[in-house]
Amino acid sequence: MTGDALGIVLVNLPSPEGWTVNREGFGGLGVMTAGVGGFAYPSQRLAEAAGLLRSHGRDVVGLDFVLGGGRARKAWRRCGEAGGAIVHVSVNNLAADLDAAWEFGARVSGGPFVVTGVGLGAHGDAIAERCPGAIVDAEATGYGAALRVLGEDPHPGAPDDWPDACWETMPLARARRLPIYHGRGCTHACDYCPYVIATGRRHVLRSPERTAREFADQVARHRPKRVVFRDPVFGLDPQGAIDLLARMAELPRRVRAPFEIETRPELLTAELMDGLSSADCAEIKLGVETLESAALVASGRVSDEAGARRYGEAVEAALAGAHARGMRVRPYVMRGLNAATHDGDRDTRERVGRWAEPDVKEVTYPSEGASGVVG
Ligand code: SF4
Repeated sequence: MTGDALGIVLVNLPSPEGWTVNREGFGGLGVMTAGVGGFAYPSQRLAEAAGLLRSHGRDVVGLDFVLGGGRARKAWRRCGEAGGAIVHVSVNNLAADLDAAWEFGARVSGGPFVVTGVGLGAHGDAIAERCPGAIVDAEATGYGAALRVLGEDPHPGAPDDWPDACWETMPLARARRLPIYHGRGCTHACDYCPYVIATGRRHVLRSPERTAREFADQVARHRPKRVVFRDPVFGLDPQGAIDLLARMAELPRRVRAPFEIETRPELLTAELMDGLSSADCAEIKLGVETLESAALVASGRVSDEAGARRYGEAVEAALAGAHARGMRVRPYVMRGLNAATHDGDRDTRERVGRWAEPDVKEVTYPSEGASGVVG
């Protein structure tokens, strides 16, 4: 083998021909879009692993073939062998990702080869067959994979102690949208959501001080155009979120940046919206899903008719409140939910569309059950 030896390589694999794979999308289960140059988040899982490995004095090299393909190909061509590899695979492109991962694993000389991704727990057989000898990591963050490389307990302890994601290692690309989070996981039980099955319906939460400190440090270091809170549901801990936003609003101008969140209408209280507005929130992604009572009850969003009515009021209040404060809202609605009707879908789109054009997502329920798909 010739070429320079690299340290631990952290790999966001190339997309298949004619597709863009966003392995961080949809809570880390991965999203594929047709066409080259589609939307993909920077590799937060690998940036977290890089942060932890570097804090232990390990050399790391980020190879992002989606957002920095040219540079990654050049570094990999020069490389003789790697001291270890962490490869991020997506359950939505699993067979092809595992075959591609194996090419990186085969160049690891004596070190650990880890495949990592949300929802891999149910895919041990496929991983053993396509990547024999690989260590499997299915934690919700990238820290578990890094700890496996170090041969330590993969459950990384208190979230406040985890090191910052290392964006010197993984590219933010031209869009310069820097991912961050305050809380990971979700405790809700929407029947269309494989993410909570894959992550065990657990919510790991940082303290407001910890998140505000990393926000300021990352902005100072990387000057992002926007910070993207990747919490699947921002504000699950309402008081903590309000405290965090108050801290962000008090940051000096040079470490502030516009940011976006993703949340649920019933969590967007007037107090939370005031906090978001004061802290420079640029956009709220709002998972409305449906306003049809029967579909809300069937999907587990609410428990009865009265809950559905209150949910509808919360949606109106959230859309009106964000509009009044001048914050952009991007609502998401769903077609194909259990018990939904064509008229109900149309009514939801019309009511939401009075405030902002909704993105419409199709939902399908796998016949063998979501747990068979994602672990
Ligand atoms: S609120 Fe529902 S859809 Fe969103 S992450 Fe939680 S369970 Fe999934």
